[in-house]
Amino acid sequence: MVILKTIKEVKKALKELCTNSQSIGFVPTMGALHEGHASLVSRSVDENAVTAVSIFVNPIQFNNENDLKNYPVTIENDIELLEGLNCDIVFIPDKKEIYPVPVNEKYDFGQLERVMEGKFRPGHFNGVAVVVKRLFEIVEPNKAYFGEKDFQQLAIIKRLVKIIGSDIQIVPCPTLREDDGLAMSSRNRRLTEEQRANAAIISVVLKDLKELLKVMPVKEAINKSITRVNETEHMKVEYLEIVDDESLKPVNSTKNGKGIIACMAAFCGEVRLIDNYRIS
Ligand code: AMP
Repeated sequence: MVILKTIKEVKKALKELCTNSQSIGFVPTMGALHEGHASLVSRSVDENAVTAVSIFVNPIQFNNENDLKNYPVTIENDIELLEGLNCDIVFIPDKKEIYPVPVNEKYDFGQLERVMEGKFRPGHFNGVAVVVKRLFEIVEPNKAYFGEKDFQQLAIIKRLVKIIGSDIQIVPCPTLREDDGLAMSSRNRRLTEEQRANAAIISVVLKDLKELLKVMPVKEAINKSITRVNETEHMKVEYLEIVDDESLKPVNSTKNGKGIIACMAAFCGEVRLIDNYRIS
């Protein structure tokens, strides 16, 4: 495995490794890697001749300065984990390498960026799209792996490849969870022991929501679920939406519906966590 810091080095290494146009798999990350990330990398290693992983805490996708300042960095552990997964290239650029000049690209994702994360984190998805497009241009992968944990991000990336006319295959990967159901996340490292235990209520409530929706209207089920999370110490829901899994538009009824997903963002102390569960 090689650890590279510049675009030039990455392009050179890929040229040397892919002599017979073998397939390249790519996993973009912000580091502080956990088993969720590892599952994406392992899948890429299984499905491609060469796997590249990027570690870059992308400043322009953060709408909250404190969130960026406190984002966990564990580079040495990350490298060790990737080495064990047979990853070929780790790209760890600095800010200037990715953004040598100020960014002025603006994407229009329509409805996809007007709800949930898009509504509560203005500019977030544009920042995600800008960095992912740059990384795609550098690595030129055949396949790129993204977690369903960030369900709206996945929808945005699928739309991005359409907008830019790219034929990179976007591979969705299932959410990995802790034993109590909490979705694995780099931000979980910032929780105290007590907060960490309480944060599991997010996945418990999302899971139970599927049953609630069988016996009560959507609005009532949402309100009941929000109250249950908010009654848990340290927890405060930012949004809970039940949406169509393609348009991400909120649905009024889940009867006869297919492709419906429940998405939540909630604060646990100062740490903002997101998760989702499929309803149908
Ligand atoms: P991040 O480092 O948070 O930007 O995540 C990098 C990639 O890993 C994204 O595609 C995430 O959706 C994915 N990911 C994060 N957490 C998980 C998880 N618990 N299970 C599966 N994939 C995940």
